[in-house]
Amino acid sequence: MLAMASESDRHFDEEASERYSMGTLSDEEAEQIEEHLLVCEACRRRVVESDAYVAAMRRAAAELRRVKKRGRNSPPTSPG
Ligand SMILES: [Zn+2]
Repeated sequence: MLAMASESDRHFDEEASERYSMGTLSDEEAEQIEEHLLVCEACRRRVVESDAYVAAMRRAAAELRRVKKRGRNSPPTSPG
């Protein structure tokens, strides 16, 4: 078993990849992740997944805003 662990051998967690996708990491943090992505396919896949997750979240948020704006216009259905 190899005992060598350089900085770029460290995997980042799900939260970090989500923040990377959202673009809320500091330059330094993003740089570290990008460096790691070059050598780690597992984490690349994770970023692809969180990219999709963040995109879906943004779509959902935009959709919510639209629905709220339109308001409810369903008629009351209580029987007299
Ligand atoms: Zn990794």
